[in-house]
Amino acid sequence: MDNKTASNGTRNVQKTLSDLSSYRTPQYIYYILIAVYIVTAFITSVTARSTGYFTIGESRLSIYAFAGVFSSLSNICIILMTVLFGKKGFITALAALLIQSPMILFGILVRHNYNSIPGVFGNILVIITIFIVYLNNREIGKYQASLRAQALRDTLTGLPNRFAGHELISTLIEKNENFFLVFANINNFKNINDTIGFELGNEVLKEIASRWQTLADNGTTGTLDFVVRAYGDEFAIIIRKYKSENDVIKTIGRYEDALSYRITINDCDMNVSASFGYAEYPTDSDSHQTLLNYAAAAMTEVKRLNSSNHILRFSPELLKTDRTFEIEQKLRYALENDGIYFHLQPQYDVEHKLRGFEALARMKDENGNFVSPAEFIPVAEKTGLIDKVDCMVFSKAAVFFGDILRKSGLDITLSVNVSVRHLMKNGFIDEVHESLTRCGIPAKNLEIEITESIMIDSVDKALEVIGEIEKMGIQIAIDDFGTGYSSLSYLNRFPADLLKIDKSFVDKMDSGDAAKKYVAAIISIGHIMGFDVIAEGVEEPEQLETLKEIGCDFIQGYIWGKPMPAEEAEKVVAKQLESAAAH
Ligand code: C2E
Ligand code: MG
Ligand code: MG
Repeated sequence: MDNKTASNGTRNVQKTLSDLSSYRTPQYIYYILIAVYIVTAFITSVTARSTGYFTIGESRLSIYAFAGVFSSLSNICIILMTVLFGKKGFITALAALLIQSPMILFGILVRHNYNSIPGVFGNILVIITIFIVYLNNREIGKYQASLRAQALRDTLTGLPNRFAGHELISTLIEKNENFFLVFANINNFKNINDTIGFELGNEVLKEIASRWQTLADNGTTGTLDFVVRAYGDEFAIIIRKYKSENDVIKTIGRYEDALSYRITINDCDMNVSASFGYAEYPTDSDSHQTLLNYAAAAMTEVKRLNSSNHILRFSPELLKTDRTFEIEQKLRYALENDGIYFHLQPQYDVEHKLRGFEALARMKDENGNFVSPAEFIPVAEKTGLIDKVDCMVFSKAAVFFGDILRKSGLDITLSVNVSVRHLMKNGFIDEVHESLTRCGIPAKNLEIEITESIMIDSVDKALEVIGEIEKMGIQIAIDDFGTGYSSLSYLNRFPADLLKIDKSFVDKMDSGDAAKKYVAAIISIGHIMGFDVIAEGVEEPEQLETLKEIGCDFIQGYIWGKPMPAEEAEKVVAKQLESAAAH
């Protein structure tokens, strides 16, 4: 760690800001100007002494006439140096001219080279010019730097603003210098604002800013820090000159501690705290924007966890939470804008006779893009939106299914998935009853699928509702059987009609005899308990053969039908009617 820079007691934030405020011409241009100057000055002195000439067509040109051209070029270099490189350029230019002048005078006085007399006047003119340019530029430069410094300051707190933060990050990335970006947000700042008012809320922000700026300035954190007020109650700290991540965690801890003693404003005592998320360049990302997003994602996660630890580094897992949030927004939009619909997957007996359909939720986002159920169902469950999804799928599928029943006269079943959360909601039974009556579906043609694993967690409450569903004559299926902690004792208490063997067991059957026997055992137990058994996710003919062999009653899977839109399901029903008529 560069201790000299970090703890020299100077105002680190101000110094970094001033560095940012002054634009510098790239250094290589300085060296190019010096090189061009030396070459042209040399050529000038050679041509000035030359008595030769060359001819172009009819004209004879003296070589020494070109001395003026090269002398002008060297003077341009001198002036550019002063214009572009401030004090350094001015001193270099002056030194070059002062070295050159005695040489010219020596040529005139000792070698009697009178061709150089105009050069002396030229030199004097250039010296005057660079003096004027330098003094003028110095004034303009000061003015520009102070304007830029103002543009990079936050007016409320006096801290560097987010533009300053962006500039520093870009500069560090350009230099490929490692740094940590910390995103800090004041906890419950909205409450503070609501309680003491906007103006005093601003005073709180000023106090926080002042404490953090002092910390960054006095260098006691041991790292080189730059504090930025990004927006509202959001701050960023750019941490440099560290040895390890531990140094950085300690530094962030110091910023956290700085808020641990009370803030008193207008005799009002307040305790404030902040949440910190951080990410490192280039380890976590080498892109400016991504790094900001990552640090912000980590900070959001700290808030979400609401634990006593207020500091968290970004990790890729956090992006999943981000994606969850995005899906939640899409889901809310879809629920309000008719973006939730259903597909139907046919179920057959082993003779390929249609048993019915399972209604599966589908979703389109605001751009009409399909969102996989594997993504939105878990989010719907987590955010409590699953009841709405269930309802929408059920009510839409029920309309279609009632119609099909009437038209076809077939005695087939509609299976709907219901989350336990939804099941336990007051009014669930009435809701189902209302849909059945409205769509003209007999209760026995409806089946409610309840996932085994969830059922176990709340078995007693669930049993009550399930008992009522059964009384209405609705069928009950235990979905994804085998994925929970299947216990015979609780299974025995369930008034279920159908056991759905999860796809994972059907898949495992390919792997050998033991898995086959396991599935056979599930089927036997189901039968002993009085359930029918259906296998989910059957894809291969061999799986189908084995399932038939071991006594499975029904089949659902891509082998005989993928989930499909209602119109296609109608065709499946028509085909069923045809084949029934043929027999
Ligand atoms: P599930 O109820 O076990 O539904 C069966 C899933 O297996 C469906 O996935 C179906 O498309 C898929 N599947 C069926 N046969 C095959 C096959 O042969 N191969 C493969 N690879 N997959 C097959 P989907 O539609 O993605 O639904 C996933 C889960 O989401 C469902 O599992 C169910 O638990 C839940 N879900 C779907 N719709 C709803 C709904 O309206 N409400 C609730 N609460 N949950 C729903
Ligand atoms: Mg299901
Ligand atoms: Mg299932």
